[in-house]
Amino acid sequence: MKKFIYNTKSPEATTKLAIKLAALVNPGDVITLEGDLGAGKTTFTKGFAKGLGISRNVNSPTFTIIKEYTDGRIPLYHMDVYRLEDSEEDLGFEEYFNSDGVTMIEWASMIKDQLPAERLEIEIFRSGDDEREITFTAIGSYYLEKCKELDDESISD
Ligand code: ADP
Ligand code: MG
Repeated sequence: MKKFIYNTKSPEATTKLAIKLAALVNPGDVITLEGDLGAGKTTFTKGFAKGLGISRNVNSPTFTIIKEYTDGRIPLYHMDVYRLEDSEEDLGFEEYFNSDGVTMIEWASMIKDQLPAERLEIEIFRSGDDEREITFTAIGSYYLEKCKELDDESISD
């Protein structure tokens, strides 16, 4: 498992990072987001959606758990499993993970036993009012390649 760490100094910088990641993803990709309330998980997802060319407004799917956005380059399945009553509860996650779209899961550790073996884990830590430390952990060689691609781009700007 290799880690890549980014420090952003504004919501816009986090959005920019998410947009760059969106350009690299493929159908079937699974990305998890961890971080305290207000860390920036939804901000990141909004940027990611923008990067996929999704124009519908993305907000936290608090009551629905899973929201689907299909008007972008590839479908986005946005999950927030924070309010899932039972971590063993299976809402058909597997089908989303092996689908035509990319799945982004806020509070993914709540369903850790159900996550695919290979995935990109993103952890957002609030290091200041507008500062965030964003750690990408690649689990599996496919995600390691993605992280390296993203890293190469980040150096060039
Ligand atoms: P979560 O989904 O993790 O609970 P949100 O994305 O809903 O968090 O909220 C994050 C809040 O922090 C937003 O109001 C956002 O504008 C603010 N913020 C400030 N600085 C940053 C930053 N560098 N990156 C992301 N969000 C930031
Ligand atoms: Mg949120």
